[in-house]
Amino acid sequence: MNNKNPVSIYAISPPVIPTLPIDGSEQVFPIRRIYCVGRNYAAHAIEMGHDPDREFPFFFQKNPDNVLYGKDFPYPPLSKDVHFEVELFVTLKSGGSDIPVDEAMNHVFGYGVGVDFTRRDLQAQAKKQGRPWTSGKAFEASAPVSAIVPAEKVPSLAKKRIFLEKNGEVQQDSDLDHLIWTVPEVISELSKQFELAAGDIIFTGTPAGVNSVEVGDRLHCAVEGIAEISFSVV
Ligand code: MN
Repeated sequence: MNNKNPVSIYAISPPVIPTLPIDGSEQVFPIRRIYCVGRNYAAHAIEMGHDPDREFPFFFQKNPDNVLYGKDFPYPPLSKDVHFEVELFVTLKSGGSDIPVDEAMNHVFGYGVGVDFTRRDLQAQAKKQGRPWTSGKAFEASAPVSAIVPAEKVPSLAKKRIFLEKNGEVQQDSDLDHLIWTVPEVISELSKQFELAAGDIIFTGTPAGVNSVEVGDRLHCAVEGIAEISFSVV
């Protein structure tokens, strides 16, 4: 064994690639990018004061290292109004540009459930000032997620309940059938704007019932029959 450090081309240590565990596998899923869909359930669009009509979906991003797995959620700084948003997420094993809807599912690696935590007060301020949502959405640990369930274990997304409980009380309760833009439609639309690739994660939007959390709250959320997570706000 050679104990000498090879000369590195990197001026600093390269960042570690964030990964997620895969249900039933020793391998892990390396994360390339995280995209999120805005307003993809009519009832949530209405509660946020928007028209529930089927406008084209819009997207924002979190950072790959914003995912949080198997840990409690640390209440973030600069906000007094941090909201949960339970969402189905999709992971890709391949990608491309201008993917047709009827080919989109061929690119799916697997699914999971996660929370798109939002500093709602910072997001509201950004909206008012016409600024980007980055400070409201892409903060540290803002995406607690389950392990990834491979697509072959999920024969269908039809009639799958998605819900979130806070301290044992149901706060969000809907069904994936209520997605305004379906998973293949989301992938197809997103691929018109960005070149998708293996390692990408897409949060598909949240149903109605978003609300704030406090330190000490216990959250449990699931897409029934696919994945669930539980954690505390600390
Ligand atoms: Mn969201």
